Amino acid sequence: MSELKPCPFCGGDNVLFASHVVAFRCQDCGAIGPKPRMFNYASAHYQWNCRAHEKPAEPELKPCPKCGGSAELCRGMTDSHVRCKACGIYLFARTDKDCRGYWNALPRGAGA
Ligand SMILES: [Zn+2]
Ligand SMILES: [Zn+2]
Repeated sequence: MSELKPCPFCGGDNVLFASHVVAFRCQDCGAIGPKPRMFNYASAHYQWNCRAHEKPAEPELKPCPKCGGSAELCRGMTDSHVRCKACGIYLFARTDKDCRGYWNALPRGAGA
């Protein structure tokens, strides 16, 4: 199993497995990992590392510049990307912060 990544929100590595919800949780800021597809430790571990967090405090991503669909931020092994859930266009950057910044800086309403 790969190493558990630090918290995507506060950068802390004080992340523990919360067995009652079968997900990983950051002890520092309270961020909790997404629900695993399979309710076991390995799946929760995978989901945490995927950073597809369902967290209300997540900074906002503007809608897709092409189709206006909602975008999501995903964290890969070496970089992050923002992807439009509707049309699938995406943008890569080194960090989550850059990703969000670049995505939100894309010109809107220029037409597809
Ligand atoms: Zn945290
Ligand atoms: Zn789109």
